[in-house]
This record gives sequence, structure tokens and C-alpha cells, in this order.
Amino acid sequence: MTGITRREFNALAAGVGVAALTELPRPALAAGPAKIVVIGGGPGGAAVANRLKSADATLDITLIEPKVKYTTCFYSNLYLGGFRTFKSITHDYEGVKKRGITVLTDTATGIDTTAKKVTLAKGPTLTYDRLVVAPGIDFKWDAIEGYSPEAAKIMPHAWQGGPQTWLLKEKLLALPDGGLVVMAVPQNPYRCPPGPYERACMIAHFLKTKKPKARLVLFDAKKTYSKQAVFEEAFNEYYKDIVEINLTNEIDDFSVIKVDAKTGVVTTKAGRTERAALANIIPPQKAGAIAASASLTEGDWCPVNPENFTSTKAKDVYVLGDAAIANEMPKSAYSAVSQAGVVSNDIIADLQGKPRTAGRFRNTCWSMLAPDNSAKIGGDYVPATKDGRAYLEIKDGFISKPDDSAELRRQVNEESADWYQTIIEDLFDEPSQQVTLPNFRNP
Ligand code: FAD
Repeated sequence: MTGITRREFNALAAGVGVAALTELPRPALAAGPAKIVVIGGGPGGAAVANRLKSADATLDITLIEPKVKYTTCFYSNLYLGGFRTFKSITHDYEGVKKRGITVLTDTATGIDTTAKKVTLAKGPTLTYDRLVVAPGIDFKWDAIEGYSPEAAKIMPHAWQGGPQTWLLKEKLLALPDGGLVVMAVPQNPYRCPPGPYERACMIAHFLKTKKPKARLVLFDAKKTYSKQAVFEEAFNEYYKDIVEINLTNEIDDFSVIKVDAKTGVVTTKAGRTERAALANIIPPQKAGAIAASASLTEGDWCPVNPENFTSTKAKDVYVLGDAAIANEMPKSAYSAVSQAGVVSNDIIADLQGKPRTAGRFRNTCWSMLAPDNSAKIGGDYVPATKDGRAYLEIKDGFISKPDDSAELRRQVNEESADWYQTIIEDLFDEPSQQVTLPNFRNP
């Protein structure tokens, strides 16, 4: 374990050297403090706001977020499995406000990138010098016949944190023993590539311990998935008679194409149907709606310059987190925070007219497989060129192996819990204490 300061952690997560961060000169703007508007108070948006404020306390930073409390999707599977409380994964913005950031409980309804203005559902129009757009994901509601925001109240996706997470757990608790849970998993790209399989493990653990006659059937639009070898090992070792995983293959396409919320029937493209006592439908995704309405998207997601996450569609606008196209860098909270470090450094350098250096990024995604048993995947990410286009590619990737020792898995599990605590302090708490950070790459 290495004792390091929060500031050092921020630098590490951003993939920049500590010295580089501490040596950043303060912005000196002739026309008063620069106005930074941040849309979205998830890991991406909150981390950018916090980084900028600690780099220069005089910056005028406004964070727009409709929710008063943010429930993290990360660790929400552990809540389903019974390893966390709902309260422990839900956080307010009081700590962010205490850092001197203006937090508006509101929704951005429009962006005028020419006039540099953001309109809000309730509050007055805001002007900005730099805009950061971090709205996370929305769902492609027309992708699965019969699935809609109304149907999601019966067949929760729980792929955005909050009431949906709570609903899925309530439905698990109410499941009759012997009932069938059906999960639908979409094609790439989507938020948190290993998330559905961690969820399958956690639901299976819940069933094993609370509803031993119940079963879980998972339908997957994909042929392969993240950390597949360790998940398969876990399904065999812990949940053999509970979980049935159906991956799409040359013969059968297990994409879920239709659901009936009234009867619970779930239908795959291959023509298989199951009547679920509880269906967890994770639909295909796209960037949060404000991104498309502001013409920041190309297809479903937002193109960015990989060296600093500036939008390729609008000047003085950054897009980061799940909404951005980050190529080989997965859509994760860890990625979003890493991108936030680069974005905030770039904004500061740009405002001061200093040289802007390409960022380095890092990600690690942990997944809990069973009690005291977690696996991880990750790597560093660097801007590169592929087929003549700017691209973020992985360097020095790492991944847990199926035959890792129980002791190593226990350590990875602890490391994951340390990460959760650290990122939450970093995002939502007051910036006072020192944090102790394990070396996430080499347990
Ligand atoms: P979000 O967290 O979605 O935040 C975006 C915010 O923007 C939201 O709070 C939303 O209310 C707000 N917003 C949207 N539109 C507007 C608007 N118009 N105006 C104002 N605000 C707006 N990641 C990990 O790193 N590790 C994990 O272990 C992990 N586990 C996961 C498990 C599950 C089950 C899931 C679903 C995800 C998991 N993730 C994990 C992924 C992680 O949750 C996301 O990648 C991360 O939340 C993305 O951060 P973001 O800031 O881009 O988006």
C-alpha cells in the first residue's frame, strides 16, 4: 500500500505526472474569471468540476445535474448481491458545493455552441467560456419491441443508478422461490462491458443464498465478452445449476428483440422465448439526449479528439465519460475520471494560452464474482492513429486469469473496495483528507 495525497491520486487517475499537475500555473484572464459550465454530475462531470476548482479556485464553475443524490452504477451489482446497502452507493453534492462549485439541480435543455449558451429547464440561460458535456447514456427505446420507459417499471434495466437499481432489488426480494430471472444483454458498445456478467454473478449469489430453487437465464447479443474466461470459471464453480448463459453463435442469435411486460415473455432473434418472473432488460444505448440535440453526436455517440476530449463537432466544448467515443477505452467510471483529469488540464492550459499536451489515460474495471473473489481488467490508453484517424489505443493491458489463486482474488476484491471508497471521496467529499491508495495495477 502506498500513502499518497488526493492530489496525487487525481494526477495518477488522469495519467499525468504529479509534478506536471502541481506545476500548472494559475490562469490569468483579463476579463475576470473564466466561466466553465459542466453538464452532468456523474463521475465525468463531477471530476472535471473538482479538478478545475482545485487547479484554480477563482474559476467560475457551474455543474448542472437534475438529481439531488447520485446512486452509482458501479457497485450497484454488489447491492443486488447483498454485499452493499443502497445508502452506501448513494451520494449527495454537498461536498462538491463546499469546494466552491455552483451546483444547479436542473436539466440542460439546449446548447447553442455559436452563442456559447446553455438553456435550462428551470433556471436562467447560462453563458460559458468552456463547456463540458458529460450526460452519460440514454437508451435506444425502439431497439426492443415492447420495451419502453413504462415497460422498464416492470422489467427494470437498472443500467442507470437510482430508482431503477432499487426496483430491481425489490423485484429480486419479491421473486418466488423457483421463479425464473431473465437478463437481456446488448451488443457493444454499452456502459461497463463486464457489468452484465458481474450482475449475473451477483443475482446468482442472491438466488443461491435466498431463493435456492430459482434460476437465471441470460440472453446475449454478443458472441464473446469482457473477462469471459474468469466469468465462465465462476459460473461453473459457484452457480452451475443456477445460471444459463446464452451467447450468440453462428447458428443462434440470442439478441432479445421483443418483450411483453404484461406476460413476462422475452423473445430472442433465434426465436427462443422464456416467461420471466423477473426480467432485467439492458437495452442498447446511446449518448445522453442533450448531446444529440446539440449536434455533438455522430451516430449514437460523440466524436472527440483523443488527446484532450475536445468535441470534433463544436469549438470550446469537451465531451467525456460514457457519451464520448473513446475507442478502446471502455465506458466506465474509472475511464470517466481519468478523462476528467486530462480535460481539466487542457482547459487550464487553453485558457492561459499555454502549450496543450496530449493526455495519457488509464482504466481498471473490477468485477465481483463471489464473496472475497473479484477479477479485474485494465490498461493505459494513449492517442494514436489508426486507418488515418485519431484513435485511443490500449497499452500495457492486464487481465485476471482463470487459475489465479484464491489469495490473489481476495486481494483484488479488497483493492476494488479501496477504489470505490477513494473515487467516492474524490468525487463527492470535501477535499481535505489524505487517501491511501493501493497500487491498482500490480496487486
Ligand atoms: P453518468 O454516471 O451517467 O452521469 C451522467 C449524469 O448526467 C447523470 O447523473 C445524469 O443525471 C446527468 N445528465 C444527463 N443529461 C443531463 C442534462 N441534460 N442536464 C444535466 N444533467 C444531465 N464503472 C467502473 O469504473 N467500475 C465499475 O465497477 C462499474 N460497474 C458498473 C456496474 C453497472 C451495473 C453499470 C450499469 C455501470 C458500471 N460502471 C462501472 C460504469 C459507470 O457507472 C459509468 O461508466 C459511469 O457512471 C459514467 O460516468 P458519466 O459521468 O459519463 O455518466
